[in-house]
Amino acid sequence: MKININEVVTRDGFQMESKIPSIPYKLKLINQLMAAGIKHFELTSFVHPKYVPQMADADQLFAQIDRRSDVTFSALVLNQRGVERALDARADELNVVFSLSETHNLKNAKATVSESMDFVKRVIQLAPIPVNVCISTAFGCPYEGIYEKERLMDVYESLVEYNPSSISLGDTTGMANPRQVEETCSAIKSRWPNLNVGLHLHNTRGMGLANVLAGIRGGITNFDSALGGIGGCPFAKGATGNICTEDVVHMLEQMGYETGIKVDNLIQISKGLEQELEKSLPGQIMKAGQSTFTYTA
Ligand code: ZN
Repeated sequence: MKININEVVTRDGFQMESKIPSIPYKLKLINQLMAAGIKHFELTSFVHPKYVPQMADADQLFAQIDRRSDVTFSALVLNQRGVERALDARADELNVVFSLSETHNLKNAKATVSESMDFVKRVIQLAPIPVNVCISTAFGCPYEGIYEKERLMDVYESLVEYNPSSISLGDTTGMANPRQVEETCSAIKSRWPNLNVGLHLHNTRGMGLANVLAGIRGGITNFDSALGGIGGCPFAKGATGNICTEDVVHMLEQMGYETGIKVDNLIQISKGLEQELEKSLPGQIMKAGQSTFTYTA
């Protein structure tokens, strides 16, 4: 079975970093990741630099990337200004994000959930490029706790009617457990079998890889992840890293799933990222090596 990875290191990954990598470094990183087999990137976000200074270079970054016909560069947007900037920058795809939590949505998007839903609807109607909608804090939020599944399903039903290219579920602060993920994904896939659904998982509580498998059991084949396992949301209390790309790819390849991505390359790129950020990263395979590697005694 083929599993698709959307690399979010330059967006979700870098938005929490105090040391902001330069554009030349980001370009080098993207090229290395493309050479490793990554075909889908969430490159950056078009948000106000006052709130997320790490993404202030979004327009310039998009202008300088090496475009490839088989690689998609997506841009995260939260408002109309962001949509306009992303379209001007020739993003291949928009990722419109809003939070299922009223508290988190007010902090992150400065809007109520219903205002954000209206905005999402307009973007899908008007955008000339594919639109993914990401429901962040889809399983629970640090301000409002873990939700009943129905809360998500009601919003999901409205979104499906807007007819976006895909809808992903964000576990922004790593609160979802594998049973919750499998039940939710199964419910969505059995109700809308042809819908393109993705998972955006964080490993905040160590449930990240288990949730990937739970998602696959629930019929999901699209996952966001970040090299080295860095990342998090500056507007969600206690948020930490995304699931780690090389750890996810390693696990899936060992299990016989196809990702089209070379783990050895990822390990080298992740070590380079560690040097660039001058700190130890949460990823585990970059430290231990692949499980198929054997040492001479
Ligand atoms: Zn995230």
